[in-house]
Amino acid sequence: MKLIFLGPPGAGKGTLAGLAAKELGIPQVSTGDIFRDAIKRGTDLGKQVQAIVGRGDLVPDELTVSLVRERLAAADAAKGYILDGFPRTIPQAEALAGFQQLDAAVNLLASDDVVVLRLTGREVCRSCGAIYHVRNIPSKVKGVCDRCGGPTYTRDDDKLESIRNRLEVYRRQTEPLIAFYRERGLLRDVDSSTTPEATLAGVRTALGLRG
Ligand code: ADP
Repeated sequence: MKLIFLGPPGAGKGTLAGLAAKELGIPQVSTGDIFRDAIKRGTDLGKQVQAIVGRGDLVPDELTVSLVRERLAAADAAKGYILDGFPRTIPQAEALAGFQQLDAAVNLLASDDVVVLRLTGREVCRSCGAIYHVRNIPSKVKGVCDRCGGPTYTRDDDKLESIRNRLEVYRRQTEPLIAFYRERGLLRDVDSSTTPEATLAGVRTALGLRG
């Protein structure tokens, strides 16, 4: 199954894409994770995108598209994948349509109030990328990842100023994708305002899978 997950920052794309990918046995391809990993390792790509990602702005389309094109050419993505955080602009979506045929675009719905509450409290594992939340989904030991024991931290772009910017960037650049995929008959709306488990059940229903 070839899927993309859409939704504002904080809608739960990363969490849900991870859960659904595991269940379906296909890779989760997160452009945000690819960029954060490059920044952490100090590669050329990392140096190129560090300031952009920290501000919550978008990395240029050509660069992002070529990374995704390369990643989806890998053997593990031949049978399917979940794209998480890509496409994020109409030009990215048009480019993707030129080399991949999607089965569905899952659109996670959550109000502004919900996403701001979630983003101001999110913590991510520096080693494995697992996502926690100080109030909603805390790790068992504060600052320590349940899954791998690595340190958890607050992303630079989860600071309030960047959060506001990311929401605005989302509205301006990414929200138009909803109409883009609706027109192509691929959009599946899923309420993502409650728990990850309930949202995963909604995703199964939206994709016609058995719960
Ligand atoms: P979010 O929680 O906002 O969904 P992501 O982890 O998906 O965060 O992305 C973090 C940052 O990485 C974005 O704010 C942006 O700077 C960059 N980024 C991720 N995906 C893309 C993309 N498809 N196009 C351009 N920039 C991207």
